[in-house]
Amino acid sequence: MENNNGYEQFKGQSRLPKFAIPKRYDLKLKPDLIACTFTGTVEINLEIFSDTKFLVLNASQLEFDHSSIYFTNPNTKEYRKLDVNLLEEDEILVLGFDEDLPIGEGSLYIGFKGILNDQMKGFYRSTYEHNGEKKNMAVTQFEPADARRCFPCWDEPAFKATFKITLDVPEDLMALSNMPIIEDHSDGNLKTVSFQESPIMSTYLVAVVVGLFDYVEDHTPDGIKVRVYCQVGKGNQGKFALDVAVKTLGLYREYFDTPYSLPKLDMVAIPDFAAGAMENYGLVTYRETALLYDDQHSAAANKQRVAVVVAHELAHQWFGNLVTMEWWTHLWLNEGFATWVSYLAADILFPEWNIWTQFLDETTGGLTLDGLTESHPIEVEIQHANEIDEIFDAISYEKGASVIRMLQSFLGPECFQRSLASYIKLYACSNAKTEDLWAVLERESGEPVNKLMYSWTKQQGYPVISVNVRGNKLEFEQSQFMLSGVHGNGQWIVPISLCCGSYDVRKNFLLQTKSDAVDIMEFLGASNAANNTVEKGNHQKWIKLNVDQAGFYRVKYDEELAARLRYAIEANHLSATDRFGNVTVQFDLKASVMNRKLTVILIFSGILDDSFALSMGCKQSLSSLFILMSAYKTEHEYTVLSNLITVSRKVAKIAADASPDLLDFIKQFFINLFQYSAERLGWEPHKNESHLDAMLRGEVLTALALFGDDNTQSEAIERFRSFLNDRNTPLLPPDTRKAAYVAVMQSASKSNRWGYESLLRIYRETDLSQEKTRVLSSLTSCPDADIVLEALNFLLSSEVRSQDAVYGLGVSREGREIAWRWLKDKWDHILKTFGSGYLLTDFVSTVVSPFSSKDKAAEVEEFFASRANPSIARTLKQSLERVHINANWVKSVQEEKQLAEVVKVLANKKG
Ligand SMILES: [Zn+2]
Repeated sequence: MENNNGYEQFKGQSRLPKFAIPKRYDLKLKPDLIACTFTGTVEINLEIFSDTKFLVLNASQLEFDHSSIYFTNPNTKEYRKLDVNLLEEDEILVLGFDEDLPIGEGSLYIGFKGILNDQMKGFYRSTYEHNGEKKNMAVTQFEPADARRCFPCWDEPAFKATFKITLDVPEDLMALSNMPIIEDHSDGNLKTVSFQESPIMSTYLVAVVVGLFDYVEDHTPDGIKVRVYCQVGKGNQGKFALDVAVKTLGLYREYFDTPYSLPKLDMVAIPDFAAGAMENYGLVTYRETALLYDDQHSAAANKQRVAVVVAHELAHQWFGNLVTMEWWTHLWLNEGFATWVSYLAADILFPEWNIWTQFLDETTGGLTLDGLTESHPIEVEIQHANEIDEIFDAISYEKGASVIRMLQSFLGPECFQRSLASYIKLYACSNAKTEDLWAVLERESGEPVNKLMYSWTKQQGYPVISVNVRGNKLEFEQSQFMLSGVHGNGQWIVPISLCCGSYDVRKNFLLQTKSDAVDIMEFLGASNAANNTVEKGNHQKWIKLNVDQAGFYRVKYDEELAARLRYAIEANHLSATDRFGNVTVQFDLKASVMNRKLTVILIFSGILDDSFALSMGCKQSLSSLFILMSAYKTEHEYTVLSNLITVSRKVAKIAADASPDLLDFIKQFFINLFQYSAERLGWEPHKNESHLDAMLRGEVLTALALFGDDNTQSEAIERFRSFLNDRNTPLLPPDTRKAAYVAVMQSASKSNRWGYESLLRIYRETDLSQEKTRVLSSLTSCPDADIVLEALNFLLSSEVRSQDAVYGLGVSREGREIAWRWLKDKWDHILKTFGSGYLLTDFVSTVVSPFSSKDKAAEVEEFFASRANPSIARTLKQSLERVHINANWVKSVQEEKQLAEVVKVLANKKG
């Protein structure tokens, strides 16, 4: 039954109807930066495929002048009699005409107006200071589904069209968009800027920026103009990203065997920005921390972040912008791929960073989230636009990138690259699904890619592979790994790699069933022959699965295999390269050279990470994890140590919850553990030291400060005093500043406010975003609950941009309870200010997840029961699950009889 008007039939649909599709947009926008509003008109050239009285497109939070809306066809007949229905719930605009529109081409005209909002999405306002005056800029952020908040459009990735954009802006400001300016004429205080028409693209990639900027400029060898725009006076800070961008464009041109498809590339630092960066076609926008690098005040970690983010966004210019996902279900393909390939690019540009070893962080991030019952498959059904936001998570990015790496490792780098290049050519200027990529890879490789990957992208979770040695056989069994310790029912096709006694002796096979066995007789013989300098005995026959940690799974060794590995770590770890010789490995593509040293680092990191996860799932004792950790005392490698630090901070909290009387011993054990590295690295950079040592120094000293090491504390405070007097003092370079800030906060309290006040002063006096976030992430590390509360309130003050509040949420163990009370207290305000997306969900996950009692879980659940909200639903469930996992872990640790003795022995073992 149809009602009079008939527009109800379009309610509650997940996709727009396809009886009319857009071909070209002629979009005019006029932002008013004083009133924070905008007006606009759009002419959309359409193709109508079947008889219809309706046009249905997306729009939200816009106002329409009904008399401005009409349709014409090529015979210039105008259709002006229509009903205009804006259905806010579905974010659609339904135009119901009083007669059928003719099949074929036509044009739709719409005038509209809206508000430049403060929500960092749609068409929004960001603020900056210029000559001491606070000013507004206008910026767009449309991914995933917010172009509809700026202009009415077919706002789905598959509705690609060309865009001709014109902006009316104040005479003294710059206007940027996806394409170069073709005309710019002034009329008093206002100028009209017209941009060249774009090639076809999806609406979520359209972008506009209006403000005051400085820029630096360069060209690629094939003549693409590249610019980095930043706030006036910060031009120098854009040079590093500019250099990375120019080189990366060349590199991707070669890798994808397809040139960059636009005539220019602009990259802009935006002071208020919700995500890290956004790959808008030809006009990439960034947070300042992800684009700007200051020689004097940015740390090595900041530099690496800029390079990796730039490489990620530029990868999207091909993988995402030129070839676009058909629907948001395939978002992971965009994000997983760009994440993976950004490491490939960074590795070529900065081989000394050993960046592939740090890829382990991506894998660990994916494994951690995906170990929850409340995880989700890589590919998810999307029914409504408001469900898209929450799939921008560690599953799409980190698990996505990890399974792509696993596949690349299985197929080999050359075949993988060849396939990608043909995929890009095949689907250029169009859209593709996950299966389309698998089909190309399957064709090029001859391997059953679709079947293999189906098990990884369509079901959530991943396996733990248990491996036992029985005589000359290795027995494998897979079961779904869950952090809660229970086993799920999932089963995967697992590419297994293993090496035995030597890195040269490798074996790869597919585990296609629940269990399988492999004869290693021949393998053991080869291992002994290859490793003839090592003394005889069981310990040289260590066996390691998941050789490069390229597989997205965990490994549980039987006791014998675990003991052999521990021995290998203690015996070999310092001279990994020497012990394993210098034979090059057969990864011959220059982009993927995984050298021997890196592999060994990955082996050691992987064992630690698997062991930590097994302990959390109560599958392995905390004592044995501690014993394993103690084997890393003289470790040198950044990735291994960085992982060790992360693990130590987490287990210290759990152990303290389980038996508070052991806390001092545990702290002492960790102080001993990191002492060697602290002494090796010192507080100041060594001449010609590596990038990784520079990053490591900060992390080691921060850990020691947090564990309360007296020497670190007093040294830090002394250097901090010098820094307060002179911000350019060589005594506290950017890499160690965070450590000093954290150290200072350890002794701050209500009666001793010096450290806290001093840090606020640094925060207020710097205009470098990286420095500000460094301060914010240190303030709440204070053990004094009153100061933590004060710092939390500061996060919500007008002095902290909404984009930055999340940096201060990770409070000390002593501040957990006060942070939770604060969250409840401020919840209405937080919800209103932070809207949706990770800026909001981080409040819940960061404050709730560290708790470790079922009572607290119940309390949290009760609080949110009456505050149900779809934008935090999944995060809340995941956070509660983490609390339950912690609670079980605490209980299991309490039952460990030998723990106290082990901890005390380790704490007293110096040197
Ligand atoms: Zn991305």
